[in-house]
This record gives sequence, structure tokens and C-alpha cells, in this order.
Amino acid sequence: MASPEATGSARLRVVVVGAGLGGLAAAIALRRAGHEVVVVEQADALGTVGAGIQMAPNASRLLDSWGVVERFAGVGVPAQAAVRRSWSDGEILGEVEMGDALLESVGASYWCLHRADLHSALVGAATDPDDPGPPAEIRLDAPATAVVSTGPDEAIVEAGGEEVRGDLVIGADGIRSVVRTDLFGPESPWFSGRVTNRHVLDAALIRADEELAELIARPAQNIWLGPNGHVITHPIKGGNGLYMGVTRAGLEPDEAFWSLPVDPVELKAQIAGWDDRIHRLIDLAPTITAYGLHDSEPMDAWSVGRVGLLGDACHAMLPFQAQGAAQAIEDGAGLAVALREHGDDVAAALRRYEEMRKPRVTRVQEASRANAALWHLQEGPEQARRDEELKSGSGDFKSYQWLWAPTGDLAGT
Ligand SMILES: Cc1cc2nc3c(=O)[nH]c(=O)nc-3n(C[C@H](O)[C@H](O)[C@H](O)COP(=O)(O)OP(=O)(O)OC[C@H]3O[C@@H](n4cnc5c(N)ncnc54)[C@H](O)[C@@H]3O)c2cc1C
Repeated sequence: MASPEATGSARLRVVVVGAGLGGLAAAIALRRAGHEVVVVEQADALGTVGAGIQMAPNASRLLDSWGVVERFAGVGVPAQAAVRRSWSDGEILGEVEMGDALLESVGASYWCLHRADLHSALVGAATDPDDPGPPAEIRLDAPATAVVSTGPDEAIVEAGGEEVRGDLVIGADGIRSVVRTDLFGPESPWFSGRVTNRHVLDAALIRADEELAELIARPAQNIWLGPNGHVITHPIKGGNGLYMGVTRAGLEPDEAFWSLPVDPVELKAQIAGWDDRIHRLIDLAPTITAYGLHDSEPMDAWSVGRVGLLGDACHAMLPFQAQGAAQAIEDGAGLAVALREHGDDVAAALRRYEEMRKPRVTRVQEASRANAALWHLQEGPEQARRDEELKSGSGDFKSYQWLWAPTGDLAGT
């Protein structure tokens, strides 16, 4: 099926299952490499649920090179600082400069956005006929139900009631991936016992309260660290909105759920004694949605023949490095690089892609778990030591340099 048209690699037909953040990133990287991309998505409309998302420099560097940052200009906000606070009174424990300091050290910004804004910028870069490469086709209302063939000559997935054929199929269908289940069986990411309660707030209401206004005076990521949980805020919508996520740990496995409305009174009871400003921010939220957090161990393999996996489908992780989507975006770039290296030997390219990506993704999964432990410490000597480290400018801040710096292997996508 491949025809040797694209410079440096055969032009392939790639079927991507899932138009989430990872699937769209793959579509962009692959079309820019000259490949023909068809994305099959179960939803009947484009858009995304959810609230805020942070795009760390390792991902925003790629988004910038693909013209995606330009597309979210005006609504994306580059964070100027990362601030850690004490849970009970909001005292600042530590702070690092981002903004220009980050541009100088790693050459990219730390963007804060609403997910819908990032999603629509990705859709634009995947489908705009004026961007490099053939525009990706996105088929809506096309849920994948089965992998029909993994090769040797072509890959086939059944989606929306028809067989969709390509040189390769990429399952970017998230935590409950049908493609993963068909390839490797029912074992899946597990509920971690942690839940994030997500809210989107109107910045105008926050500015009307002097004490709350101080929290958004500068565009920054703020994280309150406390026993069994943390609270994060960051700007969205060009500074006209604020995302807040209240994470609670220690729930029983059978309390796993995906997305549920939350009673603010109950939520405030769960965080009794935390900084009063957090309680007042909760009062300003029109709605709050709870989202169960999942985690996973490295899979033995990410592909069978001509069918591979990407993003949460193969490496779900806790969001405490803000890296799940960032790693899915890196996967998309990694896939394009591996196909460039292996031409039309698709199975070899998928193995190379996994070899390139898995060690890094595994390290990020571990680092995310480490932040869960560090951020949620009970009051005591360990918490006191953590706070001292933060005050000295170290603490969890030191863990990001390796992750955010340019890696080299994803260049040129
Ligand atoms: C509270 C929270 C905060 C987070 N914050 C950040 C952050 O700040 N930064 C960051 O980088 N990451 C963050 N993440 C992680 C991030 O949201 C995920 O890692 C990311 O969305 C994964 O992208 P994906 O494309 O792999 O999967 P998804 O985003 O889940 O997309 C999967 C897509 O596939 C579609 N689909 C599913 N099944 C099928 C099917 N059978 N057929 C066709 N289509 C299908 C879905 O409709 C969806 O469109 C956070 C996660 C949580 C829970």
C-alpha cells in the first residue's frame, strides 16, 4: 500500500483511533512527514470535556514547531512562575521563575490553557490544507470496535461499522483503549485511589475579592501541598479564567469513577482547615466535576505487527508531573521519527518507536508517583524536610530540568 512519495520515507496511510490530544498530535506529526492520516473518533462532535491543562516545555517545543502555539495565541497563558504553598494558610514555601528564565534555560514556555482551546488548535494544525503535508481526515461518530488485522500486508480496524484499512493503525483511544484490549487482553490501568475535583472559575469574580485577587495578580501555577491531597490553580482563557483542581487521596479502589458532579459543601468538608481562600474559590465555581486518577505499569510491548499504541492507551500515568498529554504529544513526534528511519518497514518502525519512547515514559510515570508521595505528606519530619527544601529553591522543582530540556531524538518532526 505504501508509495515512496514523501521525502526520506515512504508515504504511508495511517489510521489513528481517537481524536484526543495524543491522536491529534500524531496526526500532525505524520501529515507533516507526508503521510496520509485518517482519524476515527467515537464522539459525534469535535471538542473535549475537561478543564485546565498545562503544556510543559518538552511538549510546547513540539507544538511551537508545528504551528500549534500560534493557533492558541491569545487564549494560552505562559506561566511566569511555579509556586508551592502550605495547605493551611497558603504561605509560600518555594517559588521558581518561569517566563523568560525558562525560555533561556530550555528554549520553550510553560503554557496554561483550557483543554478545549488546546484541542481546537490541534484540530486546526491536523486538518488545515495550508499547513505542510496532506490534511488529516477526521471521521466522527466512528467508534472502533475491533482490530481486524495486524498484518502482514495491511492493518485493519473496524470503526463506525466499516473496515478502515491502512499501512498501520495507531490506538490513541485513551485509558480504556479498545485497540490495547484487542491486542493484549483485558488488563488495564488501575484506579489509584486519588480523585481530582476540577473547576473553571471566572477571573472577574476572583478580582472582585481583594484577597483572592492576589492569587491571580501574576500568571502562575500555584500548588498548595497538604496531608492526603493538593490543590492546583493556573490561568486559562487569556487570563480571563482560572482552573482549579482539588486532589484527594486515600479512596478505596471500589470508589473508582470517571467523571461525576460534585457537591461543593461535601468537597469543602473534605478539606476542612485548608486555606480559607480555597474554600472561597470553591464558592465561586459554577460546577465541579470529580475525575478518578489512574496509573499503570510499563507494558511488555506497545505493538503487534502493524498496529501500535500511543498516549494513555499504553502509558496512563498520574497527572502530578502534568505530563500525560505531553508524553502523548512526544509519542506522536517519536512515531514520525521512527517511520522516517525505517521507511515502509512498519513493524520495525513501531518497535523502534517503543524502544525510543518507553524508557522516558516509564521515568515520567515514576516521577509522577514520586510527586504524589511528596506533595501529600502528613505533617511531620518528612513534611518539614520537604518544606525546607522548597524554601531553598530545590524540592520537587529540581526534578523538571531533565524532562523539559530538548532531547534531540524528536528533532525535525
Ligand atoms: C486531572 C487531570 C489533570 C491533567 N493535567 C495534565 C496536564 O496539565 N498536562 C498534561 O500533559 N497532561 C495532563 N493530564 C493527562 C492528560 O489528560 C492525558 O494524559 C491525555 O489526555 C491523554 O491523551 P490521549 O490522546 O492518549 O487520550 P484521551 O485524551 O483520553 O483521548 C482518547 C480519544 O479517543 C477517543 N476514543 C476512545 N475510545 C475510542 C474508540 N473505541 N473508538 C474511537 N475513538 C475512541 C476518545 O473519545 C478521545 O477523543 C491530566 C489528567 C488528569 C486526569
